[in-house]
Amino acid sequence: GSTIGILGGGQLGRMIAIAAAQLGYRTHIYAPEESGPAADVSPRWTRGAYEDAAALAAFADSVDVVTYEFENIDPAAVDVLSSHGLVRPGAHALRIAQDRLAEKRFVQDLGGLTAPFAPVESLDDLEQAIALIGSRAILKTNRMGYDGKGQARLNDPGDAVGAWNAIGRQSAILEGFVTFDEEFSVILARGANGEIRFWDSAANVHVDGILATSTVPAGPRIEAQVAAARALAAQVADALDYIGVLTLEFFASADGPVFNEMAPRVHNSGHWTIEGAVTSQFENHVRAICGLPLGETGLAARRVEMRNLIGAQANEWQAILSDPASHLHLYGKHEARAGRKMGHVTRLTL
Ligand code: ATP
Ligand code: MG
Ligand code: MG
Repeated sequence: GSTIGILGGGQLGRMIAIAAAQLGYRTHIYAPEESGPAADVSPRWTRGAYEDAAALAAFADSVDVVTYEFENIDPAAVDVLSSHGLVRPGAHALRIAQDRLAEKRFVQDLGGLTAPFAPVESLDDLEQAIALIGSRAILKTNRMGYDGKGQARLNDPGDAVGAWNAIGRQSAILEGFVTFDEEFSVILARGANGEIRFWDSAANVHVDGILATSTVPAGPRIEAQVAAARALAAQVADALDYIGVLTLEFFASADGPVFNEMAPRVHNSGHWTIEGAVTSQFENHVRAICGLPLGETGLAARRVEMRNLIGAQANEWQAILSDPASHLHLYGKHEARAGRKMGHVTRLTL
């Protein structure tokens, strides 16, 4: 059988590995940690740094295709992998999606709407950016941010110094604060032959910068904007010659869908597809990177709600299991730290 290499060993890697196993593939994780959620499911795990070119080359040589569950990998490492094997999605997609400035410019060039933004490399830049964009804004590190980490909200020009210090005085982007009704994501799978399939767009609710719930159907205000958002997402995927699952996050605003960010991978807002869609995002990701035909992405229920179990919420597992319509997923993490995604629950209404 063939082996899929996965960079990163967290819960996304775990769920990719489960889907891969079901299709008869073996997986081999490469991650800097000793172990992680994917270790329970993947028969092979190599502990190595993302900067270790020799170890990465050996890893790429040991598998048939390399993919990732985590986009913040040094592009130089991806170049090493690419010269030793097939990397899907490719290095170009990764370069763009790991850099907020690059992804916003890329999407703007394709005609997509974004929040007003400006690059910030210094406190001086930040003050100029505020003069340009206004002080109702968010300062975000250009790289490495997730779950709202590496962000600072500004409300008046006097907040500049505090925000610049709060994000650790590093390469950043200032974004104007978008007034929106709701948030949604477009998740698509693009096959090796260029075929694209979309899942239904879920309404995503964030609490403290972390995704709390994803619900489909998303409701009329979002549904009215999905066609335009999909058209943009398909343009992005085609322009990157993308293979695999790609996620774009949007704000549903009075002016139409405003692009927020993209992820070159399976996404938390698509976990509902495991039970709620005919084919899950994980299965179609595996199918795409292995050059197989994509599975149907339609809904398997009338209504699907995914709720993240964050920190101590994972202790609710017994109550969740007492509801027969709910599907419990726990990631096997030992320490329920505050703000840590421990699992999720998906509830179907047939
Ligand atoms: P993720 O875990 O999704 O990768 P992240 O750390 O990359 O999160 P963002 O998606 O950029 O962060 O922002 C997190 C949330 O903060 C958004 O989903 C949205 O609710 C809010 N937000 C971000 N940018 C803006 C903006 N420009 N205007 C208004 N709200 C915003
Ligand atoms: Mg993000
Ligand atoms: Mg986000």
